[in-house]
Amino acid sequence: MPELPEVEVTKQSLEQHLQGQCIKSINIREKRLRWDLDQTTLNSLLGQRIHNLSRRGKYILINTEAGSALLHLGMSGSIGILENDRPLKKHDHFDLIMSSNQIIRFNDPRRFGSFIWAGKNPEAHKLLNKLGPEPLENNDLGTHLYRLSKGRKTSVKAFIMNAQIVVGVGNIYASEALFISGIHPKRKANRISKKRYERLATAIQETLTKSIEMGGTTLRDFSYSQGEEKIGYFKQELFTYGRTGAECKCCRSLVRQMVLSGRSSFYCANCQH
Ligand SMILES: [Zn+2]
Repeated sequence: MPELPEVEVTKQSLEQHLQGQCIKSINIREKRLRWDLDQTTLNSLLGQRIHNLSRRGKYILINTEAGSALLHLGMSGSIGILENDRPLKKHDHFDLIMSSNQIIRFNDPRRFGSFIWAGKNPEAHKLLNKLGPEPLENNDLGTHLYRLSKGRKTSVKAFIMNAQIVVGVGNIYASEALFISGIHPKRKANRISKKRYERLATAIQETLTKSIEMGGTTLRDFSYSQGEEKIGYFKQELFTYGRTGAECKCCRSLVRQMVLSGRSSFYCANCQH
């Protein structure tokens, strides 16, 4: 599933292609995504020049004079940038045709992605207006987390994965940041000191930043000559996530797995308390 770094890298790559261009047409083949695609409101984009792209949580905002559209990759969405039209693949649900004749093609086998017109004030849209701060834009994330943790008896992992607390900390990054800061994922959110939250915040920011940089590297390595660039997925070096039974990279104990709030959690019982 694409998490914040993949979405950020997708945004950066798309922006290189789309900034300053106009959208000529929008071809919807399958409107039943996470929310139904609405051709009428999305047509507000037609003829609009794209100022820039931005990101809020895992939403990519396509910003124009008339307003903004929200693009979400869901569980399995990906974007192809095509220099020329080519035969459709299964799950190619919609295309944006640009003034350069490039085609932005959205593929999503599981159809949890979305593409929604959000108008002139996208921050007020119901999908965005309850979101917590951006982890990479908050200079005092540790204090923010500590303040909101008061009275919360949920596990710290569920707490930092709650998008109303802070956006963009998905399952992989929550596991990794908790490992790096030495905090057991099951520890109750309200039982962690401010100092430890500061360490956790730094770990979240470093993990996300490193991953974005790696994604950027993957993108630069990608061959543009194929005429199609599939963006948004890259391999990562991980400490705990998906490494059940393997040796901890710090202490050589075995990485363990448990389910917390319905999600697989990976941790080292020796390094995390
Ligand atoms: Zn360990």
